[in-house]
Amino acid sequence: MKAFTYDRASSLTQAATAAARPGAKIIAGGTNLLDLTKLQVETPTQLIDINRLGLDNIEDTRDGGLRIGALVRNSDLAADQRVRQHYGVLSRALLAGASAQLRNKATTGGNLLQRTRCSYFYDITMPCNKRSPGSGCAALGGFNRMHAILGASDQCIATNPSDMAVAMRALDATIETTDPAGKPRTIPIADFHRLPGQTPQIENALQPGEIITAVTLPPPPPGVQIYRKVRDRASYAFALVSVAAIINTVGGRIRSARFAFGGLAPKPWRTPAAEDRLAGAAPDAASFDAAATAALDGARGHGGNDFKIPLARRTLHAVLAQATRT
Ligand code: SF4
Repeated sequence: MKAFTYDRASSLTQAATAAARPGAKIIAGGTNLLDLTKLQVETPTQLIDINRLGLDNIEDTRDGGLRIGALVRNSDLAADQRVRQHYGVLSRALLAGASAQLRNKATTGGNLLQRTRCSYFYDITMPCNKRSPGSGCAALGGFNRMHAILGASDQCIATNPSDMAVAMRALDATIETTDPAGKPRTIPIADFHRLPGQTPQIENALQPGEIITAVTLPPPPPGVQIYRKVRDRASYAFALVSVAAIINTVGGRIRSARFAFGGLAPKPWRTPAAEDRLAGAAPDAASFDAAATAALDGARGHGGNDFKIPLARRTLHAVLAQATRT
């Protein structure tokens, strides 16, 4: 591990100003950053600790939603009574992630910023365009069982590993930030994570020194909320495929449907055209099939992960059947 300095920020502006300097990194829970630093994937020269900035509250919003501070721990968010009662998909997604010890440390903001678990990204002896732009992608033609079938590029086929973000995508969350000048900004979660294209090293919409301060959830949508995660073992494993779904069925027909996939793409993957196939439809195999076909339009395997296409289809079917069972 390379030497770095450690500073505890006393204000958001101070933290953002320091974070804008080359080599500086914000640290909160540190559950991903410390692993990356030990492996020299990240080599910060300065760590700025923001844990004492008071961003750890969960508040009701005037319109009936929730505002979640960026430093709220994953375990506290999952256990919050309002989240359990009205945003069950989020609580279940959080509890499906990592381990109890990690959830006690990991924060809401850090979860959104966690980096891919592509094994080549973590091995500094291997080519990786995300870690070292222009060096190549070892996963293309390599061991790519966990990799993306949607939204990837010829530069990078890594997936986003978050469970929490998949539920937040289905819930239409908004991310609040501030920059070194103290200027606030809101970013819809749909626009927060970026696809790799030709620049896989750029993973999100944050500018240098811009810090996540909170995540806002709109009022809870009507319907059954489900988070289903398919993985290699029952805990402490990343998703092969996950689905966060909110399905509202009235009078034997689907009135509205929202669903997002995890484990398939470089960002939580939601397809409005696929949801439209379900709106007004009978909850049967034909409508589930139509939705799955639209959601997986353009899906492409890379050898080791070809199985994800039928697995995603079957997982969506199972979730929709469960959500519409009377
Ligand atoms: Fe790197 Fe992305 Fe290729 Fe993995 S998939 S080796 S993260 S460029």
